[in-house]
Amino acid sequence: MGAPGAGKGTQATSIADYFGIPAISTGDIFRANVSQQTELGRQVEAILSAGDYVPDELTEQIVADRLDQPDAAKGFLLDGFPRTMHQVGALDDYLDARGIQLDAVLVLDADPDDLVGRLLRRAQLEGRADDTEETIRHRMDVYLRDTEPLLGHYESEGLLAKVAALGTVEQVRSRIVATLDRADGRGAIDDVS
Ligand code: AMP
Repeated sequence: MGAPGAGKGTQATSIADYFGIPAISTGDIFRANVSQQTELGRQVEAILSAGDYVPDELTEQIVADRLDQPDAAKGFLLDGFPRTMHQVGALDDYLDARGIQLDAVLVLDADPDDLVGRLLRRAQLEGRADDTEETIRHRMDVYLRDTEPLLGHYESEGLLAKVAALGTVEQVRSRIVATLDRADGRGAIDDVS
């Protein structure tokens, strides 16, 4: 988990490779469907451009279908899901029904104002269509309103680990690996700053 611009996507693939499990990014799934102009892509295109959240039921169904694929049977890393309390409930139901437990909920921790600055620079460099200044600020507001409260929920479950998101990609990666190696197989974890 983490606010827009915290570096979730960059870290998710390499961390998943390290553990030999798939990285499942709802943002990537939606973007791929938009660029391929699938039925789903047409449904979500305007939502992504506005920086709003795709409806819970639709997002939850996509994640459940992806988790049902054989490559997720030995473990998985969710990138950008869950983002709402409703999605937390859906994920809990999915996992409970299969007797699976999350090992850790990792948040890339950074100051929202620093992240807005980072996203504005990235938007200039990459020209991402969903990265206008207005959209960036809106995405941050939506995150703070709908998603940040989930951190308290996972903290109370003893699953939350905060990792400082600032630094080089390699520094952040090392912090994450150290944190998750400690969490592996035991569930309770400490903060690494
Ligand atoms: P991301 O790349 O994770 O920032 O996701 C890009 C966009 O996809 C978000 O701004 C949302 O519009 C949508 N999205 C990704 N994950 C979710 C989710 N769990 N719930 C609702 N919308 C999502």
